[in-house]
Amino acid sequence: MALLLIRYGEIALKGKNRPFFEKKLHKNIRNTLKGLEPFQVTFEKGRYFISIPSEKISQAQERLQKVFGIISISRAVRVSLDLQEICAEALQLLKDNYKPGMSFKVNTRRSNKSFHLTSPKINSTVGAYILESGLDIQVDVHNPQLLLTVEIRNKGAYLCAAEAAGPGGLPVGVNGKGILLLSGGLDSPVAGWMALKRGIELEALYFHSPPFTGEGAVNKAVDLCKVLATYGDPLYLHLAPFTELQKQIRLNCPESLMITLMRRSMLRVADKLAYQRKAGVLFTGESLGQVSSQTLENLAATNEVASLPILRPLIGFDKEEIIDRARKIESYDISTRPFEDCCTLFVPPHPATRPSIAELQEAEKVIPLKELEESCLGNIETIKILPRGGER
Ligand code: ATP
Ligand code: MG
Repeated sequence: MALLLIRYGEIALKGKNRPFFEKKLHKNIRNTLKGLEPFQVTFEKGRYFISIPSEKISQAQERLQKVFGIISISRAVRVSLDLQEICAEALQLLKDNYKPGMSFKVNTRRSNKSFHLTSPKINSTVGAYILESGLDIQVDVHNPQLLLTVEIRNKGAYLCAAEAAGPGGLPVGVNGKGILLLSGGLDSPVAGWMALKRGIELEALYFHSPPFTGEGAVNKAVDLCKVLATYGDPLYLHLAPFTELQKQIRLNCPESLMITLMRRSMLRVADKLAYQRKAGVLFTGESLGQVSSQTLENLAATNEVASLPILRPLIGFDKEEIIDRARKIESYDISTRPFEDCCTLFVPPHPATRPSIAELQEAEKVIPLKELEESCLGNIETIKILPRGGER
């Protein structure tokens, strides 16, 4: 069995909430490792330790790099609290990573204050021992090629030769649940990722307009959710039939208001769904001024119809920044598949950039919105999306 040592960040600062955060993170770590059994996750003041078969360790590491709350992950070796053993193991780790002429540094963290040497003393003792080996190496305390960390803890000493960065953020679930309005575009998956990053458990809502939008459009939403589910598992995807609403709006309302009216209907349905699913907030992928439907007036027009807060994590992002992030989280290739989305169908040539609420309310009076939206909500189909390709 191999050993992984997990460090977590921000959550260490959260005072009385700390045990709650740590339990969530513990659960999320176990959850992401499902399928890589047999493994064991133990928690010991400020660290998680995972023991797992050696051949599964790189897969585990890859998955853990998507668990929010984690700051870094290291392969670790555990030895007893015996200085001689610590020195010998440190030298072995260096030899495993040895390149002639390389620089190294020993960095000790001593949470076990009853250990007889201080951290600086351990650094110098272990460093001197390694130098005596006669290998072609030198110490560089500022910019070492190899950083050996020694953690002196109650149950033993842990030695690591490398750290892989975790995603940071907060454990998914510690900040309640949200509904993400997910379109097939580039923006909303990134907005969803940002919600997950701040500890929100997410459910996605996708409006489709069959037969105008086909299987490909739904598959896109499903695949985007699979990406998000690798960060926040499980993730429910709600597919809402929007055809009738869209038709009625298009046939009966001023063309220039169509996009805003559609968006208002989406938000009203999302708001009601959120109550059913016990979610406390809605997320969209809107960014101020990105397109003509994302003016302050249009954002205000959607806010007006929802009772829950609508959060827009991308509000201050440039398109380039969003694309960059989409590439990093691997939603980009899915989002750029060429399928029509219900909002790209029948888009008016000149959408109103500054519609007034009164004007929108007037336009909404001519169609049986309440019934149409109730029927949309009542006919939602829900799929449970599992990360890495699964769905139920
Ligand atoms: P995206 O790249 O996310 O599609 P966009 O820049 O294309 O965003 P719009 O198409 O104006 O912007 O959509 C704004 C937001 O409205 C989306 O980010 C999403 O949150 C929501 N939205 C749009 N279409 C749908 C849909 N079919 N189902 C659910 N939500 C949608
Ligand atoms: Mg879009």
